[in-house]
Amino acid sequence: MESLRRDPHCTGAARGRDAVTAHHDAVVVGAGIVGAACAEALSRSGMSVLVLDASFAGSGTTAAGMGHLVVMDDSPAQLALTAYSGRLWAALAPELPRNVEHEACGTLWVAEDDEQLEAVRAKQSVYADSGVATEILSPAQLAEAEPHLRPGLAGALLVRGDAVIYPPNGARALLQRAIANGASVREGVRVNAIGAREVIAGNERISCDCVINAAGALAPELTPGIPIVPRKGHLVITDRYPGFCRHQLVELGYLTSAHTMTTESVAFNVQPRATGQMLIGSSRELVGWDGSINRSIVRRMLDRALDFMPGLALASAIRTWTGFRPTTPDKLPLIGSWDEMPGLWIAAGHEGLGITTSVGTGQLLADLITGRAPAIDPAPFAPSRVLAGVGAH
Ligand SMILES: Cc1cc2nc3c(=O)[nH]c(=O)nc-3n(C[C@H](O)[C@H](O)[C@H](O)COP(=O)(O)OP(=O)(O)OC[C@H]3O[C@@H](n4cnc5c(N)ncnc54)[C@H](O)[C@@H]3O)c2cc1C
Repeated sequence: MESLRRDPHCTGAARGRDAVTAHHDAVVVGAGIVGAACAEALSRSGMSVLVLDASFAGSGTTAAGMGHLVVMDDSPAQLALTAYSGRLWAALAPELPRNVEHEACGTLWVAEDDEQLEAVRAKQSVYADSGVATEILSPAQLAEAEPHLRPGLAGALLVRGDAVIYPPNGARALLQRAIANGASVREGVRVNAIGAREVIAGNERISCDCVINAAGALAPELTPGIPIVPRKGHLVITDRYPGFCRHQLVELGYLTSAHTMTTESVAFNVQPRATGQMLIGSSRELVGWDGSINRSIVRRMLDRALDFMPGLALASAIRTWTGFRPTTPDKLPLIGSWDEMPGLWIAAGHEGLGITTSVGTGQLLADLITGRAPAIDPAPFAPSRVLAGVGAH
């Protein structure tokens, strides 16, 4: 993987005791896909940007994510941000390096029965109101589109504009674009504290006009009071079976699984990778930072997948891993100023949609910081809603 450029203003000598690093317009804490997108948008706006990551770019939740770029309609605000981000990703796609593995495979929201088909029709009308084109597939059309789905399904909603990427390389591609705009990236630098218009990392004090806390599920460590909790998810990846599955397949019940803060939930969600492999999800658990594999929930997740795609029983699973979605009480990310601390902005709490909404978040945040009119209403994402207790349900 191409290495990222270090900050030219911070020499070895400058990294000694109580060093003061050159002033930046913006310091982004966290080089996950959200921090990377913020750095890209801010640097494109002409700001001098420094990105710091305790580990390496794309190594946090971003590395554990599935990479589905998906329009979702759990709430009007979620629909606005995901549809906006989808448009930004589509515009970016031709310029992304091959290793981002952007595939415009589309999503099939699969309906099991007539009741779910009614929900598919309602979903189509909500999407249409937001300018998102969809098609309803009959059972025969669905069987033709995905021959390995079980017979007897009621149909599906096809969202052709949805896509998939390989998330860690997506983050690195966004950072490379930021670097081309003049930004600097330092990996292996843990931020100990965020102060008023400054960041403290080891013995360094880095002054800036604004700090962006994009530390994902770890954001509350740097900004106490942010109500973000880790929500564990498992993914299974199979060996290579090119063509077995052609679209991102999701059951209609997925939204309920994502929305409801139960201790445990699973939903059918299968993704074709450019390699011919398949990613099988998804699970949600509230178990703190316990990253161990929970065999019983993996079993439930795979049973759900086999129920929809019986032929998967013949596939070999080669690896299983877990990751932590940064989750807020109202399932919407925090994007905007943190009024408790001058110069502090938050871009965190993207739950299961941070790969999708990273680019919309970066653009929205850059518009707010530079005083431009944002393309979508920023109010539902304002961090002040959690200070005011809104969404604390
Ligand atoms: C199983 C699973 C499947 C998913 N599937 C999808 C999907 O298909 N589509 C989708 O849109 N989303 C998906 N998501 C959600 C998505 O992965 C996350 O929302 C997104 O990756 C969050 O990105 P982030 O940049 O906010 O956080 P992270 O990727 O965690 O980045 C935060 C960064 O901050 C750094 N950091 C933390 N503390 C400090 C500090 N003190 N100093 C310096 N650096 C620090 C970390 O090292 C890390 O690199 C999935 C998540 C999981 C777990």
